[in-house]
Amino acid sequence: MRQIPMRQITLLGSTGSIGENTLDLIRRHPQRYRAFALCAHRQWEKLRDQCREFRPDFAVVGDADLAGRLQSTLQSLGLETQVLHGPEALCQVAAAPEADTVMAAIVGAAGLAPTLAAVEQGKRVLLANKEALVTAGALFMEAVARHGATLLPVDSEHNAIFQSLPAGFRPGLAESGVRRILLTASGGPFCNLAPADLEHVTPEQACAHPNWVMGRKISVDSASMMNKGLELIEARWLFGVPGEKIQVVVHPQSVIHSLVEYVDGSVLAQLGNPDMRTPIAHALAYPERIEAGVPPLDLFQIARLDFQAPDFQRFPCLKLAYEALAAGGTAPAILNAANEVAVEAFLKRQLTFPGIARLVAAVLEALPVSAADTLEQVKAADALARSRAGELLCGMNRGGS
Ligand code: NDP
Repeated sequence: MRQIPMRQITLLGSTGSIGENTLDLIRRHPQRYRAFALCAHRQWEKLRDQCREFRPDFAVVGDADLAGRLQSTLQSLGLETQVLHGPEALCQVAAAPEADTVMAAIVGAAGLAPTLAAVEQGKRVLLANKEALVTAGALFMEAVARHGATLLPVDSEHNAIFQSLPAGFRPGLAESGVRRILLTASGGPFCNLAPADLEHVTPEQACAHPNWVMGRKISVDSASMMNKGLELIEARWLFGVPGEKIQVVVHPQSVIHSLVEYVDGSVLAQLGNPDMRTPIAHALAYPERIEAGVPPLDLFQIARLDFQAPDFQRFPCLKLAYEALAAGGTAPAILNAANEVAVEAFLKRQLTFPGIARLVAAVLEALPVSAADTLEQVKAADALARSRAGELLCGMNRGGS
């Protein structure tokens, strides 16, 4: 009988939505996968429960105080898990030689450094954290090539595109016969709301996605369609496709997860129920397939599939993302950082929902775009955009946005 290799996994963001779905798959396949390191930021009690079940070698939390609490609790439970803390510890467990696979599922730009640390060790990197490619796409892909890392997309759309591309596809469209990528979007919870009503929507409404269960930040991004904008930039770097060859298609049922159009007129798509365990299982097992616990797709029940062009007036964030991609350099990092500040402010009820796009646009307008050739340049642009967004936010609040 063929021996199945046991993969040792560092799970960055284990307490999040992607993290929990990944642990569900590890739980289903204990003969294939083991959690080597589990990493969270603040939710140390949830991490404690995960450590109790999965017994990793390492656990990482955001600061020394949480680390102390977690370490003493794990010791009292008789666990040998070593607890570390802070951004350097994330990079340490991502780069550790014992881990062959890293699931990058931290939310936001904080995911960039540890994901890059895994890439630089030539690991198998399962990429959920789209912000790494949005902020530092050129650098990141160059590091993937230089260090021979294997990059497997977890974002459902990018995973669908990956599955629909020719085997062995490399960035660069012409020779592969690919004409365009069709990136599907559900349109989120506000797809049919009158623009005037958007002024009054609440964080709870924005987080109630019609098809997917996700973390709060990406849920708000889905409602504003900034998520699709970030995915557009992610696709540009992952597949080496210019922005004008990526068409966003609103498809409210979220059954087709994206499509690839070829020069002979063929269009290949990947379909499935909206359950992140499908793309995570695909990336974990690639090139094999494993059972993911996802119910079979019932086409008779679905009965119809709908498609619309995106409405840039209703969803200005998507337009801002296309523009940032075209501007290049640090523009996508500025877009992303301003959006992170804006979404946090919206979730804290300090900004209206349309205020998110207004704040991001104002930051992009205020800051010059420069080269993003080094990590330092990207980090500097990110920091400047956050600080400018903070200042503009204060002004907007005084002016009542
Ligand atoms: P969640 O908000 O559910 O989870 C985020 C995770 O990141 C948590 O484990 C959190 O720890 C950790 N975290 C947050 N901030 C930091 C930080 N500064 N340093 C270290 N860890 C941190 O997010 P999701 O799981 O929804 O999304 C994760 C990523 O995957 C995002 O980039 C998202 O865009 C992408 N993605 C998500 C999809 C989904 O279905 N959820 C689909 C496709 C992509 P703690 O819990 O302790 O705060």
